[in-house]
Amino acid sequence: MKFIIAIIASLLATGAASRPACAKEIAVSEKLTISPITEDVFVHRSGSDNGIVIFSNGEALIVSTPADDSETSALISWVEEKKGANLVGYVVDRWHPDAMGGLPAVHRAGVRSYAHNRTRMIAREKSLTVPNVGFDGQMEIDVGSKTILLDHLGENHTRDGIVVWVADDLVLFGGNGIRNNGGWFGNIGDANLGAWSRTIEAVNARYGVAKHVVPGHGAPGGTELLNYTINLYSPFSTVPQRAVAGEAGTCLTQTGIVVEEASSDEEHDGVRRLQTATLFVRDAYKALRIRSIDIEIDVLQNRIYSAIGTLQIFDIEGNLCRQRVSLSYSGLFVSHVDDAVGLAIVLKEATPLERFSN
Ligand SMILES: [Zn+2]
Repeated sequence: MKFIIAIIASLLATGAASRPACAKEIAVSEKLTISPITEDVFVHRSGSDNGIVIFSNGEALIVSTPADDSETSALISWVEEKKGANLVGYVVDRWHPDAMGGLPAVHRAGVRSYAHNRTRMIAREKSLTVPNVGFDGQMEIDVGSKTILLDHLGENHTRDGIVVWVADDLVLFGGNGIRNNGGWFGNIGDANLGAWSRTIEAVNARYGVAKHVVPGHGAPGGTELLNYTINLYSPFSTVPQRAVAGEAGTCLTQTGIVVEEASSDEEHDGVRRLQTATLFVRDAYKALRIRSIDIEIDVLQNRIYSAIGTLQIFDIEGNLCRQRVSLSYSGLFVSHVDDAVGLAIVLKEATPLERFSN
């Protein structure tokens, strides 16, 4: 089981997706590679985290940072020194560390950063680095002779996620709102599952002419990625969010892992194993209740693994505790990223448990 937990650790770091092979891949640093998808647009990849670089007439724009400063600095150096381009800006597509973690390096390099105002607001709330320039709805940035469009079409993987449209090259960068083909259900720790499909339908309506679609993780493809994503989350579209008053007491207990009940609770080699158990976990913003016949906890890393079971996610808003979603899963991995980011909740597959006709 230690082996499985080690695999999970690497999946959690990346959001779970296999790394695609690319013949024209350029290795920039130990973790960072860059590969062209058109003459002017490149995908940068650190682990399985994707972003893009757009070139035009000696200028460049980068979208999404690698998770840390050193990889981000290596990427900026590649654009400015290796490619000799004037970096006119850096776009952050969501607040998660795999899209914004390298922002301090961007600012240190004297490059102006752009993000949706929701991203800036969340960054401020969580004491993360705040992107320089904000926008609501849409924003255009000129790069050489190209005009790049930043667009927020609704909530999905996070509340603030945007897509980036390169009209001249018919390239759509979807961030984590768009899944790679066959990709997992993914990290839903901060997701609006009810809105996800509808948001990507709106993306499809506006940018369905795309030739290249780049997801936040895994292999780029075409518009089949949009359809895959719409279908993946559509079972949750009919499940409205609702307040669960009776759960408030549970939600407001201490942070960390609390075992509500277990028929058996044993620890071997740093792995605590619970059987027929109900587990309660919370961070500053949300709480989870996991029910399963078998739950394993990596005691040192505070990571939770369960092959099959049910999960409720609650949002904590002051003294209120609101159920965001109730689902059954196969393959659940929970880890505490850090105090600002809180719990990452990665699922392999999920089905809504409660449906309401409303
Ligand atoms: Zn994310």
